[in-house]
Amino acid sequence: MHSGQAEDRPIWQPLGEIQFEETPCPICHSDNGVLRYTKNILGYQMKYYICSQCRALYANPRASSDSLKKIYASADFFEGGEPGGEHLNYFDFIGGEKYLRKTARDRISRIQLYCKSGKMLEGASAAGFFLAEAKTAGFEVTGVEISAPMAEYASKRWSVDVIPESIEQISLPEQKYDVIATWGLMTIVRDPIALIRKFHQSLKPGGIWAFNTYYHDGWWPKLFGSRWQILVVNFSQIYTKKLILEIVRQEGFRLLSRRRDYPHTDLLKVADQMSWNFSAPWLARLIRSSRISNLIIRVPLPDVMEYIWQKV
Ligand SMILES: [Zn+2]
Repeated sequence: MHSGQAEDRPIWQPLGEIQFEETPCPICHSDNGVLRYTKNILGYQMKYYICSQCRALYANPRASSDSLKKIYASADFFEGGEPGGEHLNYFDFIGGEKYLRKTARDRISRIQLYCKSGKMLEGASAAGFFLAEAKTAGFEVTGVEISAPMAEYASKRWSVDVIPESIEQISLPEQKYDVIATWGLMTIVRDPIALIRKFHQSLKPGGIWAFNTYYHDGWWPKLFGSRWQILVVNFSQIYTKKLILEIVRQEGFRLLSRRRDYPHTDLLKVADQMSWNFSAPWLARLIRSSRISNLIIRVPLPDVMEYIWQKV
């Protein structure tokens, strides 16, 4: 028996056919959108619109909630083949453990400027790297992860509670948490306003919500158009710099800090992303065959900010 050991791997499920559903703007529910990007991903013809009312960028049609569960339970999503090749999202998520844990430690130290310890919930906890580091830093952690294979992997490996469900579909206890953290979540949730409300209710008075998210009104997407790497099949919406501030404030949060997201990564991952952006798979192959492919570096993301908020 190797239960709880690092060599245990998630038990992935077959992906099958992804189903799509029509949607209005997920933020303001306006039907009035202007087509901005189209993109073919593994045979799926994706369309992305700018909402004429709130300026959010959203996918329509978008993957249905049932299909999302299948996407996140599949190897196709988390370890889909070659870096730089055509894949749904990650070529090897768990392989990024070293740099993802470094990034987690940085984020926890910033959260601890406002809250040193207590009950922490992480929405979309994936392989549990952040949960593990938060636990080490003294937090009492719970994860929620829509990917059943990842939830089980993380729970076993780090001996933490991980609820295998969509953060959007579970109800959370009221005024329970000192901190809620969500990394990479705000572009993929189907009803952002309902989720923000739920987090507000579930935090104690003065509680902290830390997250990062993309914005589409910068120079980076203008440079890459439909090749912009965040336009993936599981994507739902991207905010403008102003819109994300407005909707979170409106639900009763006060902004404590806002900074450029500056995560650790390695050269191979950077090459994978650049291969997408430039349609240049040779770039990832070149880096992969080099001796520096696992060199860890910090990269300021040109299209992502990190936010720390306090429940008012
Ligand atoms: Zn809208």
